[in-house]
Amino acid sequence: VKHNGKNNYAKFDQHMVHFQQDKRKMEKVLRDALVNQNFVLVFQPQVYARTKRFYGVEVLLRLRTENGTILTPDQFIPIAEAAGLIVPIGAWVIRAACEQGMAWIREGFDPIKISINISGLQLKSIQFLSNVKAILEETGMNPANLTFEITESTIIDQSYAVLNVIEEIRKLGISVAIDDFGISYSSLSVLKNFPIEILKIDKSFVREMVTDEKGYKIVNAIINIAKSLDMKIVAEGVEDSTQLELLDELGCQFIQGYYISRPINEIEIERFLVNRTVM
Ligand code: C2E
Ligand code: CA
Ligand code: CA
Ligand code: CA
Repeated sequence: VKHNGKNNYAKFDQHMVHFQQDKRKMEKVLRDALVNQNFVLVFQPQVYARTKRFYGVEVLLRLRTENGTILTPDQFIPIAEAAGLIVPIGAWVIRAACEQGMAWIREGFDPIKISINISGLQLKSIQFLSNVKAILEETGMNPANLTFEITESTIIDQSYAVLNVIEEIRKLGISVAIDDFGISYSSLSVLKNFPIEILKIDKSFVREMVTDEKGYKIVNAIINIAKSLDMKIVAEGVEDSTQLELLDELGCQFIQGYYISRPINEIEIERFLVNRTVM
C-alpha cells in the first residue's frame, strides 16, 4: 500500500473543519434549548429486587431538536461540558426534577426517591452548592428524597475538592450514589475515602454476570463489599429475569433496567405511583 501522507492530512483537516462546525452548531442548539425549553426529562423506575416494589426514579436528560428528533445525553453532554454549558444545563435538570417531584406530590402521590446525574464539571463549579440550596428552597423539595449520582471517574479526578463538595451535599441531607461502579481502577479507595451511601453497579457487569463465571464472581464481590460497608446497592441495565434473580440471590437490593421499564415520561410514571408493586 502506497501511503500518501499529504492527502491524508488534507482529509484529516477537512474532517476537523466539519467536526468544529458541528460542534459549534451543537453549542448553539444547546444555548437555544436552555432559552426555548427544549430539554426534557425522562424517568426510569428503580424497584426492590425481591418484591419488585417501586422505590424511585433516575432522572435522565433528553434534548428535543427543532425537527422533533430526541437526542440522548451521549450526543450532547460532552459538548455541553466542553462549552461550559453543563453548569446551567445541570442546574436546569435539578430544578426541573424537583419541580416534577413536587408536582407528583400535589397530585396526591406519596413522595418518591429521585436520583439525578451530576457531571464532574458541574460538581466542581463554584455555583454548584448555592444553586442546589436555592432550588431546594424555591421548590420546597425534601432533600431526604434526593440522590445525586456521581461517576466514579469524577470522584477520582479531583479527590480533595470533590470530597468537600460531597460532604456539603450530605450536610444538606441529600444522598450520594457512586455511578458506574467498577469501571475505574481505584474503585476500592473511593469506597474507603468518600461518604457515599449508594453504589450503582454498571450495566456492563450486569450483562456479563450471566454468561461469564468470572463476571458473576466479580458482581458477587462488589455486592459483598458494599454490604459490609452498609451501602445500598442498585444494579443498572437489568434486562431479563435471569439477571434479576441472580442479583437478588446475591443480595442486591434495588434494580433498574429495561426488564422493569425503559425511561418514560412524567405521565407514564404515574402507573408506578398508583400501583407501587410493579409485577
Ligand atoms: P447512566 O447514569 O449510567 O444511566 C444509565 C443509562 O443506561 C441511561 O442511558 C439509560 O437509558 C440506560 N439504560 C437503562 N436501562 C437499561 C437497560 O436495561 N439496558 C441498557 N442497555 N441500557 C439501559 P441514557 O439515558 O442515554 O444516559 C446515558 C448517560 O448520560 C447516563 O448514564 C448519564 O451518565 C448521562 N446523563 C443522563 N442524564 C444526565 C443529566 O441530567 N446530567 C448529566 N450530567 N448526565 C446525564
Ligand atoms: Ca446514573
Ligand atoms: Ca452506567
Ligand atoms: Ca454513565
